[in-house]
Amino acid sequence: MTTFSFEFFPAKTAKGERTLWRAIRRVEPFAPDFVSVTYGAGGSSRDRTIEVTQRLVAETTLRPVAHLTAVGHSVAELRRIIGRYADAGVRDVLVVRGDPPGDPQGPWPAHPDGFTYAYELVELVRELGDFRIGVAAFPERHPRSPDWESDIRHFVAKCRAGADYAITQMFFDVEDYLRLRDRVAAAGCTTPIIPEIMPATDVRQITRFAELSHAAFPEDLAHHLEAARDNPAEGHRIGVEYATAMAERLLAEGAPGLHYITLNKSTAALDIHRNVLNSHQVLS
Ligand code: FAD
Repeated sequence: MTTFSFEFFPAKTAKGERTLWRAIRRVEPFAPDFVSVTYGAGGSSRDRTIEVTQRLVAETTLRPVAHLTAVGHSVAELRRIIGRYADAGVRDVLVVRGDPPGDPQGPWPAHPDGFTYAYELVELVRELGDFRIGVAAFPERHPRSPDWESDIRHFVAKCRAGADYAITQMFFDVEDYLRLRDRVAAAGCTTPIIPEIMPATDVRQITRFAELSHAAFPEDLAHHLEAARDNPAEGHRIGVEYATAMAERLLAEGAPGLHYITLNKSTAALDIHRNVLNSHQVLS
């Protein structure tokens, strides 16, 4: 079965909260397989992930996936958060290690009573309940992996620790996804790897994307977006067209689903999704 899903982040302000819920309500009629809510780098934004997923369970027909990061938490805290997810009726957790708060490229700040790697948190979630567990995959290799061999070995070990599926980091070249998928398959791992689709509609987003993901950005797309710097409608058209072509090729290559980043706006993601629905019946 081919899945499709959307990603949101918890809002920081009342205005942001209204924007988030408008985006969620626009996505709801499409009956996605799940919607995921990211987990903040620290402080109160972490509680907001619990609140948003709780409200998704209580007030919508959507199936929420709560992200959870290991960074900065003791194992006891992680147990409590997983318990809160379970109490809220959340049955899906996307387990990631998290990047160091402040400087994502900085040294990994091991919590004295915490975990170092995502697979340890996968094991804990698996032990604590009947959750469906997702993990992260990196089409251009995890930025801290010294080589492909260790990257794939650790990814496969993380899947075997109890992951049901993986979602990729954003990427802009389908070949990167296909190479990762083939390497993982060659290592004997059959965990489905769902590609993440990031609509790039504004040239000003590119630097931020690179910081977040280390994903190489295609020069021709950057060039077209630069030409549309002061024309948001044209930027939207370019970004949606590029992402639609990627999504269609990924499905044609057998990707098990599409996970759309919404940035809490949903318009570009839904435009891509509508295009995909129009040309493929697999998702309907
Ligand atoms: P790991 O699987 O632990 O890997 C980290 C590094 O350690 C890799 O280089 C790996 O090869 C290596 N490694 C793993 N196991 C071992 C071992 N046993 N021995 C030696 N080395 C090992 N961040 C947030 O803060 N909040 C979010 O909600 C969030 N959601 C995300 C969702 C997706 C789909 C993705 C792709 C990323 C998300 N991120 C989020 C960012 C994420 O936290 C970072 O990209 C992080 O670096 C991902 O680490 P991981 O979970 O793959 O860690």
